[in-house]
Amino acid sequence: MNYEAVIGLEVHAELSTKTKIFCGCSTAFGAEINTHVCPVCTGQPGALPVLNKQVVHYAAKMGLATHCTVNQLCKSDRKNYFYPDLPKAYQISQFDVPICENGYVDFEVNGEPKRVRFERIHFEEDAGKLLHDEGEGTVVDFNRCGVPLIEMVTRPDIHSAAEAKAFLETVKTTLSYLQICDCRMEEGSIRCDVNVSIRPEGSETLGTRVEMKNINSFSAAERAIEYEVNRQIDVVSEGGTITQETRRWDDSRGKNMVMRSKEDAQDYRYFPDPDLVAVEISDEWLEQIRSEIPELPQSRYNRYMEEIGLQPKEARILADSFDKACLLDEGVNMKRVDAKNIANWILSDISKYLNDKNLELKDTKLTAQKLVDMIELIEKNT
Ligand code: ADP
Ligand code: ZN
Ligand code: MG
Repeated sequence: MNYEAVIGLEVHAELSTKTKIFCGCSTAFGAEINTHVCPVCTGQPGALPVLNKQVVHYAAKMGLATHCTVNQLCKSDRKNYFYPDLPKAYQISQFDVPICENGYVDFEVNGEPKRVRFERIHFEEDAGKLLHDEGEGTVVDFNRCGVPLIEMVTRPDIHSAAEAKAFLETVKTTLSYLQICDCRMEEGSIRCDVNVSIRPEGSETLGTRVEMKNINSFSAAERAIEYEVNRQIDVVSEGGTITQETRRWDDSRGKNMVMRSKEDAQDYRYFPDPDLVAVEISDEWLEQIRSEIPELPQSRYNRYMEEIGLQPKEARILADSFDKACLLDEGVNMKRVDAKNIANWILSDISKYLNDKNLELKDTKLTAQKLVDMIELIEKNT
């Protein structure tokens, strides 16, 4: 029998606010351990959270950019569980009324159009970090505790590791276009949980899913999915059944193993957080947020092929980088030199320079004005 893989992702992105979600501590990465902490984010008795307005702004921005409905009245809920990196023994998240619902993103996989729907996007606080190699025993670093996250939950619309990778890349470029996440993968700014099941080809019912948590690179997500789909096919082909469970993906060994049986929402005893008021987003505020959304990558990608006549590959490279796309658009809008010529400079010499020096465009002094000036000098043989 042939099987179809069914995959749903839960993507966590750290928001690039200056301060944490419920207190004034810095969110800067890499500080000495337990220096960005206060009574609120370490859960001291009597300390009260105050929601960071920028978090609401950024979460709504992502929702609008991905065609979600924004719930202009939403609330915060406690998700109760004990873990050493969670000092309050609950995480403040959103349960039944998330800030955004029912969106989607469109992208391409091997030249074919693909749509993945979002069930919801909600905001929540990150947990601390356990460090196991800092001398004796395990150390808890609370610097990350209270760093704002958005969690984006997809419908089970993904059917291969390649689709999952392309989806994750799309989420990442969207976050970077919106300038709401620094997208530094090596610092764990984007992480995902992967849910995998299989079903006989042609079947519409969902199979039992297995979840793998906290995967911190897109290529690891790809490998984890490949492995898990094959494992499930092997189990079922040998007459076994899949049990609903959480498995740990070990990327260095290329395999996963059972962590625990899967928890249910009721295990977390969600309830509205009595320390926080409901969040109300006015029409005016929502419109202001909407007005800040730039033309998104997929639209620029199409435009670069149609208007400038670029090859899909070239258009993709430019559209996937907000800085490069802006440089190109600004240069083209000056209408002084050929658009394709500008694109070629960015794709060749400029990209090569950035790669060689391991720099980002914004680390350099290059502007559209200077680039166009230079191309003009060359065209005039000056
Ligand atoms: P939880 O938060 O407990 O993991 P959710 O019901 O919110 O649970 O689902 C989380 C993710 O699992 C979603 O992305 C959803 O699309 C995906 N999912 C649910 N059922 C299946 C299934 N049978 N196969 C694959 N993915 C699934
Ligand atoms: Zn704090
Ligand atoms: Mg989950």
